[in-house]
Amino acid sequence: MGQNQQTLSIDAFHWHIGLLQNLDVGLVVLDEQYHVHLWNSFMANYSGLSDSDVRERNLFELFPDLPAQWFKSKLNTVFHLRNRAFITWQERPWLFNFKPNRPFTGKAAQMYQNVTLIPLTSPDGEVHQIGILVYDMTDAAMSHLDLEAANQELARLSRTDRLTGLSNRGYWEECLEHEYDRFLRNHRSSSLIMLDIDHFKKINDTYGHQAGDQVIRSLAQLIKEHIRSTDSAGRYGGEEFGILLPDTSDSHAEVLAERLRRAAQDALIYYGDETIRFTLSLGIAESQPDDSHHESWIKRADEALYKSKQGGRNQTTIF
Ligand code: GH3
Ligand code: MG
Ligand code: MG
Repeated sequence: MGQNQQTLSIDAFHWHIGLLQNLDVGLVVLDEQYHVHLWNSFMANYSGLSDSDVRERNLFELFPDLPAQWFKSKLNTVFHLRNRAFITWQERPWLFNFKPNRPFTGKAAQMYQNVTLIPLTSPDGEVHQIGILVYDMTDAAMSHLDLEAANQELARLSRTDRLTGLSNRGYWEECLEHEYDRFLRNHRSSSLIMLDIDHFKKINDTYGHQAGDQVIRSLAQLIKEHIRSTDSAGRYGGEEFGILLPDTSDSHAEVLAERLRRAAQDALIYYGDETIRFTLSLGIAESQPDDSHHESWIKRADEALYKSKQGGRNQTTIF
């Protein structure tokens, strides 16, 4: 960008003022002492201070809640380098603490702003003043933030099993894979519990599929109540769940597994007029370097679970 595009002669600038007065953009002209030389109707409307209230007065004394140190250093850079500077709402949501007054933006408590600082060249070729343009970005910011929230919710949903609210299989396996990679680096053992409801087909057949769903949901709730915040539980299949316990030996994992097994055994699930009971079979495997992949880790826990089934169900087996 050439000097002509970066700076604006002060005459040309004043020539534009009549136009800019009526634009939906804030316009302020400041000198090197930060005294105000121009204050357009946008600034007057939103600040409640008229041009005569602010003229020749120090901007930072007029607005004590401006981020003075930060903004002065921006202004000084423009005076010094004679380049335009841009401040986006993403960098700093607002410079002037204005309330948006349009009903459309009713959600926002503050006016989001983009700010452009323009060096104003006087006839002697020096820059003694800066033009500050304040753009109301509230609408754009609101739609952007809405979109971001929607994307976050979408990402959360894509990780979540709808029936139970636990992690779904894909995301849970991703966590397991990360945990296994971490184990290969630092050799701190973690444990994996795989668990499956016993004779679940019979529950479905006796009470119906909806009742079966209620049992699955109740089990998920039991799991949530028993694990720590650093553990991660996921729905691995229909009525099979996996629990990853970072930095936990298999014997410590067994304590949790047994607690959960007994809680399931004691739980009464009310569905309509029916009271349903169920039991769990569980298998535990501690991480091992020769698994070489997280899938063999799951396989070992599954083998232990199979042993529990073979052994008569309602029990825990360590691989
Ligand atoms: P086992 O003790 O050997 O585990 O016996 P099981 O009857 O539980 O055997 P299996 O694990 O093979 O059967 C699981 C059944 O769970 C089969 C399927 O119809 C049912 N199922 C799978 N997903 C769901 C679900 O989301 N809701 C309900 N209600 N049932 C499901
Ligand atoms: Mg089963
Ligand atoms: Mg099963």
